[in-house]
Amino acid sequence: MHKLIFASQNANKIKEIASLLPPQFTLEGLLENGIVDELAETGTTLDENALQKARFVFQQTGKSCFADDTGLEILELAGAPGVYSAMYAGKERNADQNMQKVLTELGTQTDRRAQFRTVIAWVDESQELLFEGSVSGTILHEKRGLGGFGYDPIFMPDGFDRSFAEMSADEKNSVSHRARALAKLIDFLKQKN
Ligand code: IMP
Repeated sequence: MHKLIFASQNANKIKEIASLLPPQFTLEGLLENGIVDELAETGTTLDENALQKARFVFQQTGKSCFADDTGLEILELAGAPGVYSAMYAGKERNADQNMQKVLTELGTQTDRRAQFRTVIAWVDESQELLFEGSVSGTILHEKRGLGGFGYDPIFMPDGFDRSFAEMSADEKNSVSHRARALAKLIDFLKQKN
């Protein structure tokens, strides 16, 4: 059994990622490794933020770990909210307010193309690596569905007629940005072990 630290305090993401790992890997959280404070994310790119979190946890624990950072990138908004997705509408990190801001900014714009992009940073004693995954789609005109989290109710992936929030977890994982980035990390881990 290989233990990995996932440097995240987001319970939704921990659950999602734990469900995607092959059985020989188990996830350790931050709390059980004595890290209680919120991890700093002061970079201006997803790569920088993911690396910042993974490096910090590696320095604190000495254990191999990975961290992720995700952004919703909307073409008509020049890539916004991007790396600032979590606090797009303010420090409260409120998903409803964030989605409302996106819908207001886009208005009746017909080009609603967007992508979710996840960068996973891996840090161990000998290397730092980045793995990326993305999914293209469109921003709906209103929220649809009750599943998922974050911007899921307003994002419809290409090839589907439902939002991420209207899909089962398995369906979302079959195409999601995070699942795709994680698949690359898992390939690396399988070769390493
Ligand atoms: P983080 O950097 O992964 O914590 O995410 C940044 C922002 O994107 C937060 O507002 C999250 O709620 C949102 N987000 C991250 N992943 C997803 C997803 O899979 N679906 C919808 N929103 C997401």
